Amino acid sequence: MSAFKNNKIATKLIHGGIYGDEKTGSVNVPIYQTSTYEQEIPGVHKGYEYSRTGNPTREALEALIAELESGSAGFAFASGLAAITAVLSLFQTGDKLIISDNVYGGTFRILNQVFQNFGITFESVDTTDIQKIEDAIDDSVKAIYIETPTNPLLGITDIQAVAELAKKKGLLSIVDNTFYTPYLQRPIELGIDIVIHSATKYLGGHSDLIAGLVVVNDDELAGRLAFLQNATGGILQPFDSFLLIRGIKTLGVRLDRHVSNAEKLAEFLKNHPDVQKIYYPGLKEHPGYEINKKQAKNGGAMISFELKENHDIHKFFRSLHIIALAESLGGVESLVCHPASMTHAAIPKELRDKVGITDGLIRLSVGIEDADELEKDLEQAIIASRI
Ligand SMILES: *Cc1c(COP(=O)(O)O)cnc(C)c1O
Repeated sequence: MSAFKNNKIATKLIHGGIYGDEKTGSVNVPIYQTSTYEQEIPGVHKGYEYSRTGNPTREALEALIAELESGSAGFAFASGLAAITAVLSLFQTGDKLIISDNVYGGTFRILNQVFQNFGITFESVDTTDIQKIEDAIDDSVKAIYIETPTNPLLGITDIQAVAELAKKKGLLSIVDNTFYTPYLQRPIELGIDIVIHSATKYLGGHSDLIAGLVVVNDDELAGRLAFLQNATGGILQPFDSFLLIRGIKTLGVRLDRHVSNAEKLAEFLKNHPDVQKIYYPGLKEHPGYEINKKQAKNGGAMISFELKENHDIHKFFRSLHIIALAESLGGVESLVCHPASMTHAAIPKELRDKVGITDGLIRLSVGIEDADELEKDLEQAIIASRI
């Protein structure tokens, strides 16, 4: 851990982990673009043998994310899903996971179509209700895996209650913290065992990189994950590790702006006569508002909403000028998506409708552009989509 371990997060974002380069004084960690390292005699080396197992640039990123999430060890992967693959590889045939009922579509897909083939099963539960989690626990359940807020309905689960329940029942607790990042929410401080990130989103922040991270706070778990990272091999490359460190340095200023823009747009949408429904955990009307306030800095910068029935949502998407229709989120540019046909298409329609991912649902990732211009863009597209 660096000398900045006890500093505030805005400082840690810049100085945390491994800062600069001792040898040259470079303020940035060099990109060690190498696959292998020379050994003096077999087995005697400077701590590195092969870059799948360890690379100094990746290590700087791993130390940084561990420090930001208040964990003891971090692991960097080639994508969020490679990170999730490594975490799911902790389990064995016969094990079952309880997952939030509207998780990221790819998380549902890898459980449903990959790990289930190996006999690792799951049950989707409305984790915003702790009693429902407790009711779903049987002898085969080995972990509770949540997103809070959920994607795309922004449901809020009580992280501390999940951590306590998991401890009581001897289960692992896992939080996908992609939507909030450690700048807004730190699940390990609330007792969670494993934090996962798609760093492709806010941590990278510029829609120019695919990456995943895992953080734990326990030496035994860290050892198992280090083994799995090396054994499954989905590691992040040195150049991408550098890009991600660079992105994380501005996370604080970016998120402050993302969130203030989102708060303004949420008020605008909430009061708009054409809007049927809005989901934003920063609004007092949101059912998870109080719990979110207890465990996170604010309501983040993701908003989902539905327009009233007399609107053509495809016309709405086509009419936007600044906000782009695209998958992904968390970049500096504002993006909208249609979860039912895009990010969550891998979830069967019946299940989508059951949890509220309707065909009319729109998900907005609020960027850092001028807030008034974003509001105007939404306003004119809403009007243009009236039928
Ligand atoms: C995007 C995303 C993932 C998957 O990450 P990739 O980097 O795209 O592999 C996982 N969880 C959440 C919440 C996401 O938004």
